[in-house]
Amino acid sequence: MLRFIAGGHSVAATTTWLYPTLQETKLSMLSFQRERLPHMSSNNYQAGRHFLQIPGPTNVPDRILRAMDHPTIDHRGPAFAELGKRCLDGMKSVFKTESAVIIYPASGTGAWEAALVNLINEGDRVLMVETGHFATLWKKMADRLGIETEFLATDWRRGVDPQAIEDRLREDSEGRIRAVCVVHNETSTGSTSRIGEVRAAMDAAGHGGLLMVDTISSLASIDYRHDEWGVDVTVSGSQKGLMLPPGLSFNAISERAIAESKAGGQQRSYWDWQEQLAANANGAFPYTPATNLLYGLAEAIDMLHEEGLDTVFARHDRHAEATRRAVQAWGLEVLCQEPRDFSSSLTAVLLPDGHNADEFRAKVLAHFDMSLGNGLARLAGRVFRIGHLGDFNDLMLTGTLSGVEMGLRVADIPHQSGGVQAAMQYLAECAVAA
Ligand code: PLP
Repeated sequence: MLRFIAGGHSVAATTTWLYPTLQETKLSMLSFQRERLPHMSSNNYQAGRHFLQIPGPTNVPDRILRAMDHPTIDHRGPAFAELGKRCLDGMKSVFKTESAVIIYPASGTGAWEAALVNLINEGDRVLMVETGHFATLWKKMADRLGIETEFLATDWRRGVDPQAIEDRLREDSEGRIRAVCVVHNETSTGSTSRIGEVRAAMDAAGHGGLLMVDTISSLASIDYRHDEWGVDVTVSGSQKGLMLPPGLSFNAISERAIAESKAGGQQRSYWDWQEQLAANANGAFPYTPATNLLYGLAEAIDMLHEEGLDTVFARHDRHAEATRRAVQAWGLEVLCQEPRDFSSSLTAVLLPDGHNADEFRAKVLAHFDMSLGNGLARLAGRVFRIGHLGDFNDLMLTGTLSGVEMGLRVADIPHQSGGVQAAMQYLAECAVAA
């Protein structure tokens, strides 16, 4: 007899478990009809909203949920072209570029691959920086694509050192390095890199390489300027600062990148920019787009501009500072050690030796119905991550920090109380009127 879990119901099944009985199907559908979430393992009703405080996917605002709640339209019809143009043009304003933006129905990983295969040949060399887990995954992808990678090491506690990039590029007198690839906001560590300074370092070295930047957890949360910083390809995703569900990803591409991709890059089909650009000129896509996510994207872009991008960035800065004050008051340590690189979209917190961050997170989930981010790769069990990006306000932050502080107590983690108090004091001192 096998047992499997169907949306919180443990169901006895026979060896025909691949083909659920009618009763089992009804049970599993039931879990979708209730305001219940798949992580909840008991049948007990849990009142109130779940706190989704991982650093993405983030809370999707009701306004975006409502915007997506419409019939899917003909993606080759005239009404679609207007939506397509609205999204493509609107995303230029979010990336701060006059050049083109490509939208893929894919997760961020797809947009990483698109950036590489449109420009970098097998055997070409790229310079990457090991800021953390996501930079490492991007490098592994490049390795698998037959690209020669050089990886500048860090201790995973800071962003990119622009001087290290300049020094390495100065040595590359033959111009073997085709591109520098950096992660703007390293989601595994809560460290942000100064992209304008990376560009300045490349210029100071007189190096002609391309600059590629991953903004998956920074776009629409932390100031970003594709054109001004001379970035050739910016990669991003829908599920973080853009406040959408997962499923869309982006390449913002410079004129130079567009020109060089025509003759360069690797064999590709789905990710090919030229096909996209040709269709996008009329607001269309070369294959079936994620229409309902695009309804949501158009709404998200409007919301960001109604609030004002600078106000959005300031809101994230303020929430990040309040979070760090709470961590300090608890007597715990923020993982990022370089204040200039503190992330405004998440904070990774180290637990004292001998305490497991995953056990702590499990207690927070069980007692307070809040999901916190886990430690990834070498940080597994050592840190938990508080996401404070996306559609988020002061009371959501104080609720989040309260859940952490209560969790520290429930899990018997040595700490001082007063973290929430410290955050509240800061938020009140620099209160922002609606
Ligand atoms: N890069 C960064 C900085 C990320 O945070 C993530 C995911 O969290 C990714 C890349 C991978 O994106 P996805 O999981 O959407 O494929």
